[in-house]
Amino acid sequence: MTAPEIQGKAPIIQLEGVSKHYLQGTQTVRAVDAVSMQIFPGNFVSITGRSGSGKTTLLSLVGGLTSPTAGQVNVFEHPLQSLDDSAISALRAERIGFVFQFASLIPTLTALDNVRLPGLFAEQPVEQSYAAELLDWVGLSEKINNYPAELSGGQQARVSLARALANRPELLLADEPTGNLDVDTEWEMLSLLRDLNLNQNTTILLVTHNPELAQYGDRHLVMQSGGLTESYQWLQAQVAADG
Ligand code: ADP
Ligand code: MG
Repeated sequence: MTAPEIQGKAPIIQLEGVSKHYLQGTQTVRAVDAVSMQIFPGNFVSITGRSGSGKTTLLSLVGGLTSPTAGQVNVFEHPLQSLDDSAISALRAERIGFVFQFASLIPTLTALDNVRLPGLFAEQPVEQSYAAELLDWVGLSEKINNYPAELSGGQQARVSLARALANRPELLLADEPTGNLDVDTEWEMLSLLRDLNLNQNTTILLVTHNPELAQYGDRHLVMQSGGLTESYQWLQAQVAADG
C-alpha cells in the first residue's frame, strides 16, 4: 500500500505536468520541470534535493506565490489558474501556513505581535490568547514580549512556525524551516511538526536538506534538476512493509 491510496479522499494538492521555466539570457532554467504529484489530507511529506533543484519553486507554486509556465496546480480542489490574485491570497490567508528558510520576522514587533501579524491579512484577527498559546506550544512562553533580535536563531524559527499556524491552516508549507541552524534545532522543529500532523491532522510539506529527518514523513520525495521522484529508500521500505 502506498501513501496516495490510503485515504480514499480527494487530494489536497494535485499537480499535473507542472513546469516553471525561467529565461535567463538565452538559457532556459527548468526550475520545476513536468512535475505531477498528489498529496492527500493528513500526509506528512518530506522533500529533499540539492541546492538549486527546484524545491523552493515547487513550494511557491503550491502556495500560489508564483504561477506555472505549464501544467495545472490544484490546491483544495481549486485549479489555481482559474482564481484571480485576490482569491489566491484569500486561500493562502485562510488555509495555508508558510514557514520560510529565514524566519523573516518583523524586527520592530515582539514575538507575540509577529504571531498575530497574519490576522491583519485575514477576515479573522488572531486573538492574543491564541498567539500566546502557540508560543507556549513552541516552548517560548517566556519570550512572548521579546523582540526578534533578543531571540536565538532556533527561537526565531519557532516564532516563525507559530506565526505560520496563527490562521489554523489545513496545509503547512515549510521550506528548510531551520535554515542552517544546528541539528538539535532541526530535530526540535521536526518533533513540533509531527505533533501538529498527528494531533491537528495538518497536511505538511517539509523541505529539508537533512535526509535523516526526511525519513520521518509518510513519504519522502526527492527533487533533482526540476524533476520529482519518490525516494528510492522510501519505496524500499514500503515494499518491505507490504511483504
Ligand atoms: P532550491 O530551493 O532547490 O535550492 P530553487 O527553486 O530556489 O531551488 O531554484 C531552482 C532553479 O531555478 C535555480 O537554478 C534558480 O537559480 C532558478 N530560479 C529560481 N527562482 C528564479 C527566478 N525568480 N528567476 C530566475 N531563475 C530562478
Ligand atoms: Mg530553496
